[in-house]
Amino acid sequence: MLPLIGIDIGGTWTRVALVHDRTIVREVRHPTPKHTDAFLAALFAVIADLRAERTDVAAVGVSVTGPVSPFTGTLFAPPNNSGPLAGLDLGDRLRAETGLPVAVDRDTNCALIAEAAIGGAAGHANAIFATFSTGVGASVLLNGALLRGRDGTAGELGHMVQSFDGPLCGCGRRGCVEAFASGTAIAAASGFPDGAAAAHAAEAGDPKAQAAFALARESMASACADWVNAFNPEVIVIGGSVAQHNPEWVEHAQARVSDAFAPARDNVPVVLSTLGDHVSLLGAAILAESALS
Ligand SMILES: [Zn+2]
Repeated sequence: MLPLIGIDIGGTWTRVALVHDRTIVREVRHPTPKHTDAFLAALFAVIADLRAERTDVAAVGVSVTGPVSPFTGTLFAPPNNSGPLAGLDLGDRLRAETGLPVAVDRDTNCALIAEAAIGGAAGHANAIFATFSTGVGASVLLNGALLRGRDGTAGELGHMVQSFDGPLCGCGRRGCVEAFASGTAIAAASGFPDGAAAAHAAEAGDPKAQAAFALARESMASACADWVNAFNPEVIVIGGSVAQHNPEWVEHAQARVSDAFAPARDNVPVVLSTLGDHVSLLGAAILAESALS
């Protein structure tokens, strides 16, 4: 297979990789500029550098924080911030610049594509990937296809409400999974600036921080049981820094899954992602393969 370019656009960093046979050959990262012109200029420059190195790059795949249309490659306004790149027709701009086939998808969809190809969901036609990090994102593979919906934005499981009068979520509603189980939520509930500080406080015995972590763990576990009832998956793969730092939460979620309906609750492993923080970047390159067909 010819080499592909994978791009992972996060709120803080943009990473661009040359990928050959589903292995990252070279990776470049730069801070994500907050204005469209600077953002595109930086991205195009890195792509040109990589293509100077490998002139036979066949396609480009892009992972980007949602919401985004996988059909058109246009970014929608995100609910969590002002969204300086909102409205950008990223797919078209990349096609015009590179002359290559381009595919764009939400970061969690790309992560699930990677998990289904070479990770914890390999061999499964029904799987859920969820990331518990600064926020909570998720995607659903149903009967071998990503759950899309009309606009391609389906699967935002982190914004399903667990408590109507719960803490305020970044999306504007109250009591979402993200408002309990994200690093941001844990920090806010324990009165610390970030999740890492809250984790240190919890380890040192701070009761408020410990309560916030316990609530976050329960939120994740309860969400997994809901997802089993709603989507009947064969496996749930959990990624993100909050989950990676609390691997025992996965066992707790596994136990809660047994509260779901039979037979959906039977034989549904809840596992930690083993693809690390490259999962969406690798998934973007694998997504590029689909742009070739
Ligand atoms: Zn929300």
